[in-house]
Amino acid sequence: MKLSTLSSVKKVLFSLEVFPPKKDTSVNVIYNTLLGLRGLPVDFISVTYGAGGSQVQKNKTCEIASLIRSNYHIEPVSHLTCVGSQKEDIAASLDALQENGVENILALRGDLSPDRQPTEDFRHAVDLIHFIKEYAPQMDILGACYPEGHPESDSLEEDLLHLKEKVDCGVSHLITQLFFDNAYFYSFLEKARQKGIHVPIEAGIMPIVNKSQIERIVSMCGASVPHKMATYISRYSDNPAALRDAGIFYATEQIMDLLENGVDGIHLYTMNNVEVSQRISSSIESIIAAKNAVR
Ligand code: FAD
Repeated sequence: MKLSTLSSVKKVLFSLEVFPPKKDTSVNVIYNTLLGLRGLPVDFISVTYGAGGSQVQKNKTCEIASLIRSNYHIEPVSHLTCVGSQKEDIAASLDALQENGVENILALRGDLSPDRQPTEDFRHAVDLIHFIKEYAPQMDILGACYPEGHPESDSLEEDLLHLKEKVDCGVSHLITQLFFDNAYFYSFLEKARQKGIHVPIEAGIMPIVNKSQIERIVSMCGASVPHKMATYISRYSDNPAALRDAGIFYATEQIMDLLENGVDGIHLYTMNNVEVSQRISSSIESIIAAKNAVR
Protein backbone atom coordinates (compact mmCIF):
# COMPACT_ATOMS: atom_id res chain seq x y z
CA MET A 1 0.00 0.00 0.00
CA LYS A 2 1.21 3.49 -0.73
CA LEU A 3 2.10 5.55 2.31
CA SER A 4 -0.15 8.41 1.21
CA THR A 5 -3.12 6.03 1.38
CA LEU A 6 -2.04 4.74 4.78
CA SER A 7 -1.61 8.19 6.29
CA SER A 8 -4.98 9.29 4.94
CA VAL A 9 -6.70 6.62 7.07
CA LYS A 10 -4.53 6.81 10.20
CA LYS A 11 -3.99 9.79 12.48
CA VAL A 12 -0.66 8.59 13.91
CA LEU A 13 1.81 6.26 12.19
CA PHE A 14 4.40 4.07 13.86
CA SER A 15 7.34 2.90 11.75
CA LEU A 16 10.79 1.37 12.10
CA GLU A 17 14.10 1.72 10.29
CA VAL A 18 16.45 -1.22 9.73
CA PHE A 19 19.76 -1.38 7.91
CA PRO A 20 21.25 -4.16 5.75
CA PRO A 21 24.23 -6.04 7.19
CA LYS A 22 27.64 -4.59 6.34
CA LYS A 23 29.01 -7.93 5.13
CA ASP A 24 27.39 -10.47 2.86
CA THR A 25 28.27 -13.22 5.32
CA SER A 26 26.17 -11.71 8.11
CA VAL A 27 22.96 -11.65 6.08
CA ASN A 28 21.22 -14.04 8.51
CA VAL A 29 21.44 -11.33 11.15
CA ILE A 30 18.91 -9.18 9.33
CA TYR A 31 16.56 -12.12 8.83
CA ASN A 32 16.63 -12.74 12.58
CA THR A 33 16.03 -9.03 13.20
CA LEU A 34 13.01 -9.03 10.89
CA LEU A 35 11.68 -12.20 12.55
CA GLY A 36 11.88 -10.41 15.89
CA LEU A 37 10.18 -7.26 14.58
CA ARG A 38 7.42 -8.87 12.55
CA GLY A 39 4.84 -9.03 15.38
CA LEU A 40 5.12 -5.34 16.22
CA PRO A 41 2.18 -3.10 15.32
CA VAL A 42 4.04 -1.07 12.71
CA ASP A 43 2.71 0.72 9.65
CA PHE A 44 5.91 0.38 7.67
CA ILE A 45 9.56 -0.60 7.92
CA SER A 46 12.14 1.45 6.05
CA VAL A 47 15.44 -0.02 4.84
CA THR A 48 18.52 2.20 4.57
CA TYR A 49 20.60 2.41 1.40
CA GLY A 50 24.39 2.32 1.66
CA ALA A 51 24.31 4.37 4.87
CA GLY A 52 27.49 2.56 5.97
CA GLY A 53 28.95 3.26 2.52
CA SER A 54 29.25 -0.36 1.38
CA GLN A 55 28.12 -1.74 -1.99
CA VAL A 56 27.00 -4.98 -0.28
CA GLN A 57 24.54 -2.94 1.78
CA LYS A 58 23.24 -1.09 -1.30
CA ASN A 59 22.64 -4.34 -3.13
CA LYS A 60 20.70 -5.74 -0.18
CA THR A 61 18.25 -2.84 0.27
CA CYS A 62 15.84 -3.92 -2.46
CA GLU A 63 16.04 -7.59 -1.43
CA ILE A 64 15.25 -6.80 2.21
CA ALA A 65 12.43 -4.39 1.30
CA SER A 66 10.94 -7.08 -0.92
CA LEU A 67 11.22 -9.68 1.87
CA ILE A 68 9.48 -7.34 4.35
CA ARG A 69 6.56 -7.09 1.93
CA SER A 70 6.27 -10.69 0.78
CA ASN A 71 7.26 -12.68 3.90
CA TYR A 72 6.15 -10.42 6.72
CA HIS A 73 3.28 -8.58 4.98
CA ILE A 74 4.48 -5.23 6.27
CA GLU A 75 4.73 -2.20 3.99
CA PRO A 76 8.37 -1.50 3.08
CA VAL A 77 9.92 1.87 2.33
CA SER A 78 13.18 1.65 0.43
CA HIS A 79 15.74 4.43 0.95
CA LEU A 80 17.56 5.50 -2.20
CA THR A 81 20.47 7.93 -2.42
CA CYS A 82 21.63 9.71 -5.57
CA VAL A 83 25.04 11.16 -4.70
CA GLY A 84 27.66 9.90 -7.14
CA SER A 85 25.01 8.26 -9.37
CA GLN A 86 24.07 8.67 -13.03
CA LYS A 87 20.50 8.53 -14.31
CA GLU A 88 21.04 4.95 -15.60
CA ASP A 89 22.02 3.74 -12.09
CA ILE A 90 18.93 5.25 -10.53
CA ALA A 91 16.69 3.93 -13.31
CA ALA A 92 18.06 0.41 -12.69
CA SER A 93 17.38 0.72 -8.94
CA LEU A 94 13.84 1.94 -9.60
CA ASP A 95 13.22 -0.93 -12.03
CA ALA A 96 14.34 -3.45 -9.41
CA LEU A 97 12.14 -1.89 -6.72
CA GLN A 98 9.09 -1.87 -8.98
CA GLU A 99 9.67 -5.49 -10.03
CA ASN A 100 9.67 -6.38 -6.34
CA GLY A 101 6.42 -4.55 -5.60
CA VAL A 102 8.01 -1.76 -3.54
CA GLU A 103 5.79 1.33 -3.83
CA ASN A 104 7.41 3.81 -1.44
CA ILE A 105 10.83 5.43 -1.70
CA LEU A 106 12.66 7.69 0.72
CA ALA A 107 14.54 9.88 -1.77
CA LEU A 108 17.85 11.16 -0.41
CA ARG A 109 20.96 12.84 -1.63
CA GLY A 110 23.27 10.83 0.66
CA ASP A 111 26.24 12.13 2.62
CA LEU A 112 29.16 13.63 0.73
CA SER A 113 32.63 12.14 1.01
CA PRO A 114 35.79 12.46 -1.10
CA ASP A 115 34.68 9.50 -3.24
CA ARG A 116 30.95 10.36 -3.19
CA GLN A 117 30.42 13.71 -4.87
CA PRO A 118 27.31 15.04 -6.63
CA THR A 119 27.14 14.37 -10.38
CA GLU A 120 25.71 16.60 -13.13
CA ASP A 121 22.57 14.43 -13.01
CA PHE A 122 21.98 14.68 -9.26
CA ARG A 123 23.20 17.55 -7.10
CA HIS A 124 20.50 17.43 -4.42
CA ALA A 125 17.67 15.16 -3.30
CA VAL A 126 15.24 17.37 -5.23
CA ASP A 127 16.91 16.21 -8.51
CA LEU A 128 16.25 12.61 -7.54
CA ILE A 129 12.64 13.45 -6.68
CA HIS A 130 12.17 15.07 -10.12
CA PHE A 131 13.65 11.97 -11.76
CA ILE A 132 11.43 9.53 -9.83
CA LYS A 133 8.35 11.62 -10.66
CA GLU A 134 9.14 11.25 -14.36
CA TYR A 135 10.54 7.72 -14.48
CA ALA A 136 8.28 5.99 -11.92
CA PRO A 137 5.30 8.30 -11.37
CA GLN A 138 3.31 5.62 -9.56
CA MET A 139 5.80 5.57 -6.63
CA ASP A 140 5.10 7.45 -3.40
CA ILE A 141 8.06 9.64 -2.48
CA LEU A 142 9.22 10.43 1.05
CA GLY A 143 11.91 12.92 2.02
CA ALA A 144 14.23 13.69 4.92
CA CYS A 145 14.13 16.81 7.09
CA TYR A 146 16.23 18.22 9.91
CA PRO A 147 14.69 19.79 13.07
CA GLU A 148 18.08 21.28 14.03
CA GLY A 149 18.92 22.18 10.42
CA HIS A 150 21.07 20.14 8.01
CA PRO A 151 24.76 20.42 9.03
CA GLU A 152 25.66 21.92 5.60
CA SER A 153 23.01 24.66 5.76
CA ASP A 154 23.88 28.17 6.88
CA SER A 155 20.51 28.49 8.59
CA LEU A 156 17.33 26.57 9.34
CA GLU A 157 15.51 29.17 7.24
CA GLU A 158 17.58 28.24 4.16
CA ASP A 159 17.13 24.53 4.86
CA LEU A 160 13.35 24.99 5.07
CA LEU A 161 13.29 26.73 1.67
CA HIS A 162 14.96 23.68 0.14
CA LEU A 163 12.60 21.39 2.04
CA LYS A 164 9.64 23.27 0.57
CA GLU A 165 11.10 22.66 -2.93
CA LYS A 166 11.18 18.92 -2.21
CA VAL A 167 7.55 18.93 -1.09
CA ASP A 168 6.42 21.09 -4.02
CA CYS A 169 8.16 18.64 -6.31
CA GLY A 170 6.18 15.65 -5.02
CA VAL A 171 7.33 14.47 -1.58
CA SER A 172 4.18 13.40 0.25
CA HIS A 173 5.67 12.40 3.60
CA LEU A 174 8.67 13.52 5.67
CA ILE A 175 10.80 11.76 8.26
CA THR A 176 13.04 13.79 10.55
CA GLN A 177 16.65 13.30 11.44
CA LEU A 178 16.92 11.96 14.99
CA PHE A 179 16.73 14.50 17.80
CA PHE A 180 16.83 14.21 21.60
CA ASP A 181 15.20 17.50 22.53
CA ASN A 182 11.55 17.80 21.48
CA ALA A 183 11.73 21.60 21.66
CA TYR A 184 13.70 21.57 18.39
CA PHE A 185 11.01 19.48 16.74
CA TYR A 186 8.12 21.69 17.86
CA SER A 187 9.86 24.85 16.72
CA PHE A 188 10.78 23.25 13.37
CA LEU A 189 7.22 21.99 12.87
CA GLU A 190 5.77 25.43 13.45
CA LYS A 191 8.19 27.02 10.96
CA ALA A 192 7.58 24.29 8.37
CA ARG A 193 3.80 24.76 8.58
CA GLN A 194 4.26 28.54 8.27
CA LYS A 195 6.25 27.92 5.08
CA GLY A 196 3.31 25.98 3.63
CA ILE A 197 4.73 22.48 4.22
CA HIS A 198 1.60 20.53 5.11
CA VAL A 199 2.57 16.88 4.46
CA PRO A 200 2.79 14.48 7.45
CA ILE A 201 6.08 14.81 9.36
CA GLU A 202 7.15 11.74 11.33
CA ALA A 203 9.51 12.28 14.25
CA GLY A 204 12.70 10.20 14.09
CA ILE A 205 13.61 8.80 17.52
CA MET A 206 16.74 6.86 18.34
CA PRO A 207 16.99 5.15 21.74
CA ILE A 208 20.56 5.53 22.99
CA VAL A 209 21.48 2.26 24.63
CA ASN A 210 25.27 2.34 24.75
CA LYS A 211 28.02 4.91 25.15
CA SER A 212 29.82 4.44 21.81
CA GLN A 213 26.49 4.93 20.01
CA ILE A 214 25.98 8.45 21.37
CA GLU A 215 29.51 9.53 20.48
CA ARG A 216 29.13 8.20 16.91
CA ILE A 217 25.67 9.68 16.41
CA VAL A 218 26.52 13.13 17.68
CA SER A 219 29.62 13.35 15.50
CA MET A 220 27.63 12.12 12.48
CA CYS A 221 24.52 14.29 12.64
CA GLY A 222 25.27 16.91 15.28
CA ALA A 223 22.10 16.34 17.35
CA SER A 224 22.08 18.33 20.61
CA VAL A 225 22.30 16.22 23.76
CA PRO A 226 20.08 17.63 26.55
CA HIS A 227 21.43 17.79 30.11
CA LYS A 228 19.09 15.01 31.30
CA MET A 229 20.36 12.59 28.68
CA ALA A 230 24.02 13.52 29.29
CA THR A 231 23.44 12.83 32.99
CA TYR A 232 22.01 9.35 32.30
CA ILE A 233 24.93 8.54 30.05
CA SER A 234 27.62 9.62 32.50
CA ARG A 235 25.86 8.06 35.50
CA TYR A 236 25.38 4.63 33.90
CA SER A 237 28.29 4.52 31.45
CA ASP A 238 29.92 1.61 33.34
CA ASN A 239 26.68 -0.37 33.65
CA PRO A 240 25.43 -1.51 30.22
CA ALA A 241 22.10 -2.90 31.50
CA ALA A 242 21.27 0.29 33.41
CA LEU A 243 22.32 2.48 30.48
CA ARG A 244 20.08 0.48 28.14
CA ASP A 245 17.11 0.85 30.53
CA ALA A 246 17.77 4.58 30.88
CA GLY A 247 17.98 4.97 27.08
CA ILE A 248 14.69 3.14 26.57
CA PHE A 249 13.06 5.22 29.30
CA TYR A 250 14.34 8.48 27.77
CA ALA A 251 13.13 7.59 24.25
CA THR A 252 9.73 6.43 25.56
CA GLU A 253 9.25 9.67 27.49
CA GLN A 254 10.21 11.64 24.36
CA ILE A 255 7.66 9.68 22.30
CA MET A 256 4.90 10.11 24.90
CA ASP A 257 5.41 13.86 24.85
CA LEU A 258 5.31 13.92 21.03
CA LEU A 259 2.11 11.84 20.97
CA GLU A 260 0.46 14.11 23.50
CA ASN A 261 1.36 17.06 21.29
CA GLY A 262 -0.26 15.61 18.18
CA VAL A 263 2.72 14.30 16.19
CA ASP A 264 1.89 12.72 12.81
CA GLY A 265 4.02 9.66 13.46
CA ILE A 266 6.96 8.08 15.26
CA HIS A 267 9.81 6.59 13.23
CA LEU A 268 12.05 4.47 15.43
CA TYR A 269 15.70 4.16 14.41
CA THR A 270 16.00 0.58 15.68
CA MET A 271 19.71 0.03 14.94
CA ASN A 272 18.46 -3.54 14.29
CA ASN A 273 17.99 -4.00 18.04
CA VAL A 274 14.93 -6.22 18.48
CA GLU A 275 14.70 -6.11 22.27
CA VAL A 276 14.81 -2.32 22.42
CA SER A 277 12.22 -2.01 19.63
CA GLN A 278 9.90 -4.50 21.34
CA ARG A 279 10.12 -2.76 24.70
CA ILE A 280 9.41 0.70 23.27
CA SER A 281 6.66 -0.59 21.02
CA SER A 282 4.85 -2.36 23.86
CA SER A 283 4.97 0.81 26.00
CA ILE A 284 3.30 2.99 23.37
CA GLU A 285 1.14 0.52 21.43
CA SER A 286 -2.16 1.13 23.26
CA ILE A 287 -1.63 4.89 23.24
CA ILE A 288 -1.14 5.00 19.48
CA ALA A 289 -4.18 2.72 19.05
CA ALA A 290 -6.25 5.07 21.24
CA LYS A 291 -5.13 8.10 19.19
CA ASN A 292 -6.08 6.33 15.97
CA ALA A 293 -9.47 5.31 17.37
CA VAL A 294 -10.58 8.96 17.61
CA ARG A 295 -10.56 10.66 14.24
P1 FAD B 1 19.14 17.38 0.39
O1 FAD B 1 17.68 17.54 0.56
O2 FAD B 1 19.72 17.46 -0.97
O3 FAD B 1 19.85 18.45 1.35
C1 FAD B 1 21.26 18.42 1.58
C2 FAD B 1 21.75 19.87 1.82
O4 FAD B 1 21.65 20.61 0.59
C3 FAD B 1 20.93 20.64 2.84
O5 FAD B 1 21.79 21.51 3.52
C4 FAD B 1 19.94 21.42 1.99
O6 FAD B 1 19.48 22.61 2.62
C5 FAD B 1 20.77 21.73 0.75
N1 FAD B 1 19.97 21.83 -0.48
C6 FAD B 1 18.92 21.05 -0.85
N2 FAD B 1 18.45 21.42 -2.05
C7 FAD B 1 19.22 22.44 -2.46
C8 FAD B 1 19.24 23.26 -3.65
N3 FAD B 1 18.35 23.06 -4.61
N4 FAD B 1 20.20 24.23 -3.75
C9 FAD B 1 21.11 24.42 -2.76
N5 FAD B 1 21.13 23.69 -1.61
C10 FAD B 1 20.21 22.71 -1.47
N6 FAD B 1 22.02 8.45 4.06
C11 FAD B 1 22.36 7.35 3.37
O7 FAD B 1 23.44 7.28 2.77
N7 FAD B 1 21.51 6.26 3.29
C12 FAD B 1 20.30 6.25 3.92
O8 FAD B 1 19.56 5.26 3.84
C13 FAD B 1 19.91 7.40 4.67
N8 FAD B 1 18.70 7.47 5.29
C14 FAD B 1 18.32 8.63 5.92
C15 FAD B 1 17.02 8.71 6.50
C16 FAD B 1 16.61 9.87 7.13
C17 FAD B 1 15.21 9.94 7.73
C18 FAD B 1 17.48 10.98 7.25
C19 FAD B 1 17.05 12.23 7.96
C20 FAD B 1 18.76 10.91 6.68
C21 FAD B 1 19.18 9.76 6.01
N9 FAD B 1 20.45 9.66 5.40
C22 FAD B 1 20.81 8.51 4.72
C23 FAD B 1 21.41 10.77 5.51
C24 FAD B 1 21.25 11.77 4.34
O9 FAD B 1 21.63 11.14 3.14
C25 FAD B 1 22.16 12.97 4.65
O10 FAD B 1 21.64 13.70 5.74
C26 FAD B 1 22.49 13.88 3.48
O11 FAD B 1 23.58 14.71 3.89
C27 FAD B 1 21.37 14.79 3.02
O12 FAD B 1 20.38 14.12 2.38
P2 FAD B 1 19.03 14.89 1.94
O13 FAD B 1 18.24 13.94 1.15
O14 FAD B 1 18.40 15.52 3.11
O15 FAD B 1 19.67 16.01 0.99
